[in-house]
Amino acid sequence: MVSKSPMGVKVIVVGAGFAGLTAAIECHLKGHTVTLLESFPVLKPLGDIISFAPNAGRIIARWPPAPTPSAPTVAQQYAPICLRNDEFVFRRWDGELLTTQPVHERKEDAPEFSGHRGVMHQILFEYAESLGVEILLGRRVVEYVEEKDRAGVRYILRNDREDSGTTEPEVMWADVVVGSDGVRSKARELVLGYVDNPKPSGYAIYRAWMDAAPLAADPLTAPLVAGSDYHVGWFGPDVHFVFAYIKNTRSVSWVCTHKDDADIDESWSFPGHIEDVLKVLEGWDKVARRIVQLTDTCVDWKLVYRDPLERWVSKGGRICLLGDSAHPFLPTSIQGASQAMEDGVVLATCLLFAAQRVNPLPDTVRVYERLRYERVRRAQLLGESNRDKWHQADFDKAKEDPEVMKLGRDPWLFAFDCEKDACERYESVMKQISGSS
Ligand SMILES: Cc1cc2nc3c(=O)[nH]c(=O)nc-3n(C[C@H](O)[C@H](O)[C@H](O)COP(=O)(O)OP(=O)(O)OC[C@H]3O[C@@H](n4cnc5c(N)ncnc54)[C@H](O)[C@@H]3O)c2cc1C
Repeated sequence: MVSKSPMGVKVIVVGAGFAGLTAAIECHLKGHTVTLLESFPVLKPLGDIISFAPNAGRIIARWPPAPTPSAPTVAQQYAPICLRNDEFVFRRWDGELLTTQPVHERKEDAPEFSGHRGVMHQILFEYAESLGVEILLGRRVVEYVEEKDRAGVRYILRNDREDSGTTEPEVMWADVVVGSDGVRSKARELVLGYVDNPKPSGYAIYRAWMDAAPLAADPLTAPLVAGSDYHVGWFGPDVHFVFAYIKNTRSVSWVCTHKDDADIDESWSFPGHIEDVLKVLEGWDKVARRIVQLTDTCVDWKLVYRDPLERWVSKGGRICLLGDSAHPFLPTSIQGASQAMEDGVVLATCLLFAAQRVNPLPDTVRVYERLRYERVRRAQLLGESNRDKWHQADFDKAKEDPEVMKLGRDPWLFAFDCEKDACERYESVMKQISGSS
């Protein structure tokens, strides 16, 4: 890891998702002064399954334990609650076994984690708190402001029901403001100078997370949850259904990605209907259908898309986007949260050069964008190619050539050390920026 700065930069981070928390943790560990503002007034363990590939596992594995006696590291807390399968099983929509693919080779310095988003989020949040990161909940940022020598936010206070409404917005200033405020980012408006509306992707996902007990009690699904962790997908024309069983937490999750042109809402909590899922899986393997029949509730998440943004950094160089606010991912890339974490590490690393007065702050923030942009775009495109690979395969021939279904294990993506890369390329990218300004 890069050494800590004795001086540091004052940073406001907006949004305590995985992007904002990682940025705040990394900034704190590198000696910057951070305040994290989050709109939700109370932390709740929301969501279902989320994945962190080895490129993000490397970041998590490097974090030291919290400074309390015998505190476990984040990686130590994640390991027992995450999927520990050896392979992923590919089945055709009718249940026919196509092939299996071993998971990534297990490495202590770059583990991969797939588990419950809410639980993993809470662990990360509590880790940031234990390090001493200042986290202020119930602050909804309503405006981003930038001046020559500083950037700031106006925010209103929220209670657990709604915005407090009556109070005037409060203002907070820093050297740099990080807009890690998710897919519906407010920061994006300031950075782009206009409102960037999402487009429907043509797909939606029904998603659920539940106790494994009902599956264990049903003869058709009992084998899925009888042994060790299990990860299987059923694939058919324009639909895939993926199921995971995590033995240690006695829980299962499933996601069903399907065509959907309905009106869109970027919400993680929009309820889905089990009968609609069963309609999508009409005629499919009865095991997959039974998993759905045994489920009480699911979420209907309409997948939206955005064209790549032209920039992630404001004109003045003191406000930047990070994570989903800069680059929403299709879930089939299995990289959204991982790239959000990489962003946080790279930004905190670049800010060290401003802290040490090597370069002026706006330029260091622009280097962050340049270091990240192409890599993120390449990872985003994987979401499209994986989706097409899975949805548009020749399912009659897939049995003869199951390799077509497998996901790439590209070293450029998974063996990447974003901090090392930032340190190595920082100077040359800074030269390009200085040359072009
Ligand atoms: C409730 C929820 C559930 C999710 N569930 C899943 C899941 O099950 N599986 C999965 O793969 N991905 C899930 N995601 C998405 C996933 O977490 C992200 O795609 C990824 O981790 C990148 O995170 P991010 O920090 O960029 O964005 P987010 O995780 O969206 O975090 C953005 C944060 O910014 C806060 N915020 C937004 N606007 C403001 C504002 N004006 N002022 C202050 N704070 C603000 C939000 O409250 C949120 O905490 C979920 C996201 C959310 C918000």
